[in-house]
Formats: sequence, structure tokens, C-alpha cells
Amino acid sequence: MRIARNIWANVSGQGFKCRKCNHKKATALKGGRTAHLMCTLCKREESPTAGTLFHRVRFGLRKAFFIVYEMSTSSKGLSSIQIANRYGISQKTAWYFMQKVRLAMESSGNHPMKGKVQVDEFTIGGKEKGKKGRSYDAKKKKIVGAVELTEDNKIKRFYALPIDNYSGKELRSIFTKHIDKGAKVETDGWKGYNKMKKEYDIRATKSLPGINFNEIHTVIQNLKSWLRAIPTHISREHTKAYLDEFSYRLNRSIHKETIFDGLIKRMIGLPPINYQNLRLCN
Ligand SMILES: [Zn+2]
Repeated sequence: MRIARNIWANVSGQGFKCRKCNHKKATALKGGRTAHLMCTLCKREESPTAGTLFHRVRFGLRKAFFIVYEMSTSSKGLSSIQIANRYGISQKTAWYFMQKVRLAMESSGNHPMKGKVQVDEFTIGGKEKGKKGRSYDAKKKKIVGAVELTEDNKIKRFYALPIDNYSGKELRSIFTKHIDKGAKVETDGWKGYNKMKKEYDIRATKSLPGINFNEIHTVIQNLKSWLRAIPTHISREHTKAYLDEFSYRLNRSIHKETIFDGLIKRMIGLPPINYQNLRLCN
């Protein structure tokens, strides 16, 4: 009963409240699962995780919270195989739960980047040839990324989205979702950005390695090494989920003490999702 009450207090922030009749008193279920309580008025059985992304987590909330903690704090790439071994669950179960965590890491896009912003396009996956510039290798996944900088060029935030090609139509996605119309945007000389010049303040400069765009190139290199360290194949349709995970941690690296709580809150705020829909949504 004590455990159930603690979990309720942590999850809801206010202890038990019946979802059917709003009654605030409950009793523990005899022989029931630890976190389940029964409303003393209408006898409805409630789970604190109903209606959240933790709904029907088969391996228990304790392990689930540990996995969320690892994903929100570890800068090393974690694969579902490693998590499965560590927590004694199947790889599929681990993958499914980790995708839910990544779903909660997705940016709302409600706080577009302002001030100094650098935008660049790049590829991930496939073999690195040390070739500069846009790659047209079909095996690689094309990405457009943007970094928000402080006045003295410190990295504030980074977002990235998968794109199908380097056309203006595709590159626009990062502008629409993450860049404020008033931002001072820097891009390389690629003509794909020309279309956005009417709406955005864009300065195109030829990209010179080591001379300019150092900030965004550093973040891109970090992203690539993080992805390489994850011993798993990342399919095209799930690329975005991994980009979201990388950005979520990077953008909160100065708020380490609240990153875990914040992620738990997001997961509680999102409705349950089944395996089928999760496969489709990224
Ligand atoms: Zn009730």
C-alpha cells in the first residue's frame, strides 16, 4: 500500500484521485499488483500508469524508470540489446520501450531558435570517405541540422530532421519547425536555401573547413560518433527518433539535475501507444 501510494504521488504529483468519480480515498488490492489501488467509493481499480506512455509496461515501473534515467543521462549510445541484457527483458520489449522514451524526447517545436543560427546538411550511416560536401550515396541517410548559438558562439541548442533530398522543399522542414523568422541564419552556398531567403534572414557563405561553421560541424561530428557507437542498425523510418534523442540530451546538458524528472513528466503527459503505431509514427 505504501509503495502504491508513493508511486501515485510521484506519477500524478498529487496522490490518488479516482478517474471515474474523483474520489480521493483508495485501498490496496489484495494480491494485486503493487501500484494498483481501488477507489473506496465506486470500487474502480486504477493503475497510476493508465493513460500514459508507461501503460502496460510489462517489466515493472522500477526498471522502466532506470531505463529512462540511463537514456536521459548517458551520452554513450545504448542499444536495445544492451538494455535487454542489463534488465533481463527481451530485445523487442527493450526496443519498444526505448522508442516510447524517444517519442517523449521529440521537440514540440514551440520554442523556435532565435539569434545566431547555423544550418547545414549532412549524411549519417554508410561508409565515411572523408569527402566534404553533400553526399548522394543512396545508402546514407540525408539530414538537415540547425544549431542555435550564443553571442560568443557557444552552442545553445541543436535540432535535426531526416530529408529525402537536398531540395529547398526538403530543407525548409528545419526552418518551419525550429527556426524563428527573426533569426540570423547562416548557411553554406548551397542553392537549395535560396527559396527560403524571402522569408528568413539568410546569409550564405562558402563553407571553409576549420574557418567557419565550426560550431555546427562539431555537433554533427558528435552526433555521428554517438550513432556509430550504437551497435545496432538504425532503419530509415526510425532515424528521426534517434536524432530526437541526441538533441534532447544535448539541449538539456546544462540542466542535468532536471533532465530525468522532465522526461518522466513528458512520458506521463503522453497517451499510451501500441507497438504497431509506434513502428509507424517515426
Ligand atoms: Zn471512484
